[in-house]
Amino acid sequence: MKSKTLMKRIFCGAIAVATAVSLTACVMPLDEAKDFTSTSVGFVVAPSPEVSTRKVTITGNPVNVRSGPGKKYSVIGKTSKGKSFGYLGSKKDKNKTVWYKIQYTSSKTGWVISSLSKLKEAKSTKASTTTASTTTASTTTATTTTTKAASEKTVVISGNPVNVRSGAGKNYAKIGSTSKGKKYKLLDTKKDSAGTKWYKIQFTSSKTGWVISTLAYIEGEKNTSTPKKNNGKVAYLTFDDGPSINTMKILDILDQYNVKATFFVIYHKGMTKQYKAIVDRGHTIALHSYTHDYSKIYKSEKGYYSDLNKIHDYVKKTTGVDSRIIRFPGGSSNTVSNKYNKGIMKTLKSSVTKNGYYYHDWNVSSGDAGGINRKASVLLGNVKKGVGKKKVINVLMHDTGKSKMTTVEALPSIIEYIRKQGYSFEALTEDSVLIQHGR
Ligand code: ZN
Repeated sequence: MKSKTLMKRIFCGAIAVATAVSLTACVMPLDEAKDFTSTSVGFVVAPSPEVSTRKVTITGNPVNVRSGPGKKYSVIGKTSKGKSFGYLGSKKDKNKTVWYKIQYTSSKTGWVISSLSKLKEAKSTKASTTTASTTTASTTTATTTTTKAASEKTVVISGNPVNVRSGAGKNYAKIGSTSKGKKYKLLDTKKDSAGTKWYKIQFTSSKTGWVISTLAYIEGEKNTSTPKKNNGKVAYLTFDDGPSINTMKILDILDQYNVKATFFVIYHKGMTKQYKAIVDRGHTIALHSYTHDYSKIYKSEKGYYSDLNKIHDYVKKTTGVDSRIIRFPGGSSNTVSNKYNKGIMKTLKSSVTKNGYYYHDWNVSSGDAGGINRKASVLLGNVKKGVGKKKVINVLMHDTGKSKMTTVEALPSIIEYIRKQGYSFEALTEDSVLIQHGR
């Protein structure tokens, strides 16, 4: 599993370098599947005069575009099923496999294998000015793939951490991670199927990648990740005490609404997949407690940090995130702690801040902690009451499995209600507004 993932990453990385044109998917391109070598001692088959009216339609998915008619030529890009290109000629390789030369982009030609494409007469083509090339090999190579894209613009990362992916969408493989304040050269901009903008960046000197625009901005331009457009109305959805058997369901709903949220996690055995999914799907993983045991956490400052460090290190080990965003069990205004150490909250509040943590309470409560599976309509009603005219809302919910199934049930209507009030949803970052009790 691990090595497979690694292979995929390496492969995707290589593709990202090799192509400057959009990446369609990060899977094994089909012409690689068969394992035989070929050379291009073939001959030119048919650059006939009517060549320019013919089209090559791709039938495989995805299909490599190569710099010459054979598998030994470098991959200069990828294309996908249904795409159509101007036909420029064909050639057979050593194995008598026919390759079609195509007008890959307006400035670039390439070759695709005929077994994964189809040559057709085009119904209406304006006479191509490109005369069929009879050169034996394309002069296009993988080194000439620089696009004249977005010129000298710089992408600044605003989220922390931010995944770098092999393509413009969350379904593309993660090829790396970057952090707040880092800057990269902008190479291209694209929208994914959900309409979210992605920036193509020069990730390393030899590698490109894509980052989501909600966690990055273009230097000198307005940071679109701060939703000034909605009169600054921001909603932070927060889920405490997870992960649980509900986490994946919650993530699916959030995806469905294209909403980012924050999970204040505690330690749960056997939930590695859930911890990782929270991060991989673009949400903020934040620290709640390792044990959630008030008698340990609130006994002393030392007891508190011993617990906090444990969950911090566990999250870091599991997800790679070095989180500084926390929520006290019971909130900073809890009075239960007095039972164990009177006045400890006052000490802890100033201490964590001094130690570089950002603690968040909430100002809207779904009330799902008030009982087992309270009716979804009650939870929604609580949220409606809580939202009122607040400009920034931090909504408390719980990801606690069986006893909080109705939280999952209520979530779509909660999101719809909040969205209707003009809020934009954000996951908490170190720059987010701090909603803290008693302040
Ligand atoms: Zn809790």
